[in-house]
Amino acid sequence: MPTETPTADVILKQGRDRPVRNRHPWIFSGAIEHVKGHPQPGDIVNIVGADGDWLAAGYYNPKSQIVARILTWNSAETIDETFWRGKLQVAIAARSFLKLEPDTTAYRIVNAEADGLPGLVADKYGDFIAVQCTTLGIDLRKQIIADTLAELMRPAGIIERSDQNARRKEGLGDSTGVIRGNAPADELVVRENTLKFAVELFKGHKTGLYLDQRENRAVVCRPEIVAGKEVLNAFCYTGGFGVYAAARGAGRIVNLDSSAPILEQAKKNITLNAGSRKEDEYAAGDAFTVMRSYADAGRKFDVVILDPPKFVQNQSDIPRAARGYKDLNRLAMLLLRPDGILATFSCSGLVGMEMFQTFVFRAAVDACRNVQILKHMEQAPDHPMLVTFPESMYLKGLLCRVSEEREGAPASRQTKRLSLASLVCGSTESCRGRPRLCT
Ligand code: SAH
Repeated sequence: MPTETPTADVILKQGRDRPVRNRHPWIFSGAIEHVKGHPQPGDIVNIVGADGDWLAAGYYNPKSQIVARILTWNSAETIDETFWRGKLQVAIAARSFLKLEPDTTAYRIVNAEADGLPGLVADKYGDFIAVQCTTLGIDLRKQIIADTLAELMRPAGIIERSDQNARRKEGLGDSTGVIRGNAPADELVVRENTLKFAVELFKGHKTGLYLDQRENRAVVCRPEIVAGKEVLNAFCYTGGFGVYAAARGAGRIVNLDSSAPILEQAKKNITLNAGSRKEDEYAAGDAFTVMRSYADAGRKFDVVILDPPKFVQNQSDIPRAARGYKDLNRLAMLLLRPDGILATFSCSGLVGMEMFQTFVFRAAVDACRNVQILKHMEQAPDHPMLVTFPESMYLKGLLCRVSEEREGAPASRQTKRLSLASLVCGSTESCRGRPRLCT
């Protein structure tokens, strides 16, 4: 691939250069004064301050709200084969530093912006690599990326799973298939912290597994927490936390997911690691409805894990999501035996840890429970984050001990659906001795 010379200058409005100087890699349409030149979508462009200072270079796509994504802040660096190779080499070296192999054979090699490669995700699954190109800029350069990955990692094959909604915002359709080497078997068995997971690379969510939860699965499902205990694994996907819980000697595990075929996969993965477990249950249904019915029936658990999908796509979703997170966590608290453990997560990038903690706090007030935070959790280190790019810190979780049923919380009110008013003011219920949230 020849050196790509910038074809235009994207001139920023007065005062909009600061995020770029501070190494935030996105240029939104609203920050642009004008474009000097006639760049084609996907071209490399210069990012220039209102004062004429060269700030960075990146790829351009006027179809997206994020008109440019920065590849380099170094004016001496050119975008060529050496550039792509250098970025991929650094990303791969950072993973070998984590020493995940041989216990873990499925992990992320490239985490987009956080590895200096906006729009590119690459995950390793045993001998195979799955790539996702979420932007036009990366889509146009995926051949050089695949060639370099093939050369550096020598996988048996590289597949593409570019089928995210994010591509629509870039004016792209789906693109999936084998792009280098052999096709993987329909089902591939990989290891995660020595545990086995059967993965369907072309069918699974993301590139097959939620690799970002690996460390949290190990922390939450320690024998001290789960051995002999009754565990509710809500939003279980293909087993995830349930596989760890079974391997660490949990008593009954109730695996809950809205998708029946996914539950079949979960059962297969749990059996693969812990043999057939007659005591376990697989519940297909909406987690809110199923958990509410358990609460109404007075069912109890020692450990509840909540790992829901992303509730917030954009800012306007936050009020609805606030209600969802609070409702879900409140139900989980009501389902726990005294001193039970709640592991609760949010993968919504727009919900920060502080905001998430507020939702859990509101749930605790409504459920009339004392909630101790034992640990803050985040995405696994093969999914690095950038301090200059808060959007990269998307996964957050709280490991909590939930205790003491307060007086003044009649059972009939406990499982009641929250009203819209509760979203606005924070709480409709109060228990004796504790203040209401709303003023
Ligand atoms: N905990 C899993 C990942 C969860 S991904 C792991 O460790 O691998 C989120 C899961 O929630 C998906 O499997 C999806 O099918 C499920 N889901 C989405 N909406 C749901 C709902 N309303 N009720 C129950 N499950 C739901």
